Amino acid sequence: MTPSSNNPHAKSYFITTSIAYVNSVPHIGFAMELVQADALARYHRLLNEKVFFETGTDEHGIKIYRTAADLNMTPQEMVDKNAQRFKDLTGALNITNDYFVRTTDLSHQRGAQKIWQKMADNGDIYKGTYEGLYCVGCEAYIVEKDLVDGMCAIHKKPPECIKEDNYFFRLSKYSAQIRDLIQSDRLRVEPEARKNEILNIIGEGLPDVSFSRPKAMLPWGVEVPNDPTQVMYVWCDALSNYITGIGYEEENEIFKTFWPANVHLIGKDILRFHAGVWIGMLLSAGLRTPQNIYVHGFITSGGQKMSKSIGNVVDPFGYVEKYGPDPVRYYLLREIPTTDDGDFNEERFLSVYGSDLANSFGNLVYRVFSMNEKYFGGKVVKKAPSTFPIEEVVAQYQKGMGEFDLKAAVESALRLIAAGNEHVELSKPWVLAKSDMEKLSEVMYQLLEIVRIIGVLMTPFLPGSCEKLLAQYGEKGRIDDWACAVSWGQLEEGAQLVKGEILFPRIEEPAAKTEPRA
Ligand SMILES: [Zn+2]
Repeated sequence: MTPSSNNPHAKSYFITTSIAYVNSVPHIGFAMELVQADALARYHRLLNEKVFFETGTDEHGIKIYRTAADLNMTPQEMVDKNAQRFKDLTGALNITNDYFVRTTDLSHQRGAQKIWQKMADNGDIYKGTYEGLYCVGCEAYIVEKDLVDGMCAIHKKPPECIKEDNYFFRLSKYSAQIRDLIQSDRLRVEPEARKNEILNIIGEGLPDVSFSRPKAMLPWGVEVPNDPTQVMYVWCDALSNYITGIGYEEENEIFKTFWPANVHLIGKDILRFHAGVWIGMLLSAGLRTPQNIYVHGFITSGGQKMSKSIGNVVDPFGYVEKYGPDPVRYYLLREIPTTDDGDFNEERFLSVYGSDLANSFGNLVYRVFSMNEKYFGGKVVKKAPSTFPIEEVVAQYQKGMGEFDLKAAVESALRLIAAGNEHVELSKPWVLAKSDMEKLSEVMYQLLEIVRIIGVLMTPFLPGSCEKLLAQYGEKGRIDDWACAVSWGQLEEGAQLVKGEILFPRIEEPAAKTEPRA
């Protein structure tokens, strides 16, 4: 791995995932969010930018409090135990986050209180009475018209009727400013459909939001400054993680370097909170607003929403244990559309693994290095020009990375893999070896360069495998300078290469699914 740049003038790049609610175990949707953010973080490190990548866990709320009570645990014991599962997931998927923020961290709590105070000082927090229907499952007030037969449509339970003293945040005051930021792309929401969606939600204006709960109602949360009878509701507690994780409490060097965030990467269900409430909070506190909000879709399993009762829940740990992190990362980035819904099932997983990784990519690498060893003892004999529009592929790749279309970026690398395999088939090195060694040396150079560039492009997606692949090139496999690494002709004549092991061994499919042999 190339470390983040030490150059003090390097561009900074701060990317966050949402924080996962620790009331349950990590699911494949959060795994995808981590992998998407990790691919971007790795790519920006390769560009020699100064990168800070943050993920973490959301650990307060009534659901946590009640679940812990049911389990005879203190809430802290429960969140400690569950947060560890999410940390384990980052390890399992080879995620390179620089920090893991937890909303029970003291530095987070003090930072959340600080932004609250700033907002209060600006006159944007006021006391009011809230009366309404409240669904414990949703942890939200719901309105009559959203009920189905008097019950929450999601939780199939009747809501509780609640009247309580709350603090409110004057979000309405910032509506026009928020709309303006999004409309003008100063806050870019990707994809376009999500931008339109949030602009519709903002419509004529955003309402003020209830911002706290009486402690008697919600004993597990961050205390409101100067009012020990109230705790923060989820907005100020959870959303503020994006600044508290980089040192907002003391406004240290890390905070000064990395805020505002370049990217908040989130799921489509929490867009309105990020593009609405959070932006309003920042404006109120006099802080700069993030540059991009990237929104991904949901993952189904076998075409259905995952649920314990159907028994189709995909466990990311199980897949990593069975197939390793790279194939799981690959499936999530290549098979699931980056900003749309997609499906995760084992049959398709094995099919993608077999066709893209084992047969196309892995096989190309193995063949090229084997042939070069056989014909030239692993040496680079002679430089040769490219027969393939590398610049065009790289441009397509970089466009995908820049516009949050990771799938398109992967596909551009796949184009190179196909080109490499085609070059082998058409030029037939095993025939040239008998007739034209000079031509053979040129073909081998072209193949080695194509494979090297594929290895560079695939590094953010398949980091473990590409590290092994690029190590076969020795010095020239290092990615010190992105522009150099992706341009043709880096391999020098006389270089000695080392053949490696098979990167993606074929997986025997279960007997029932194997085609009978002729
Ligand atoms: Zn509900």
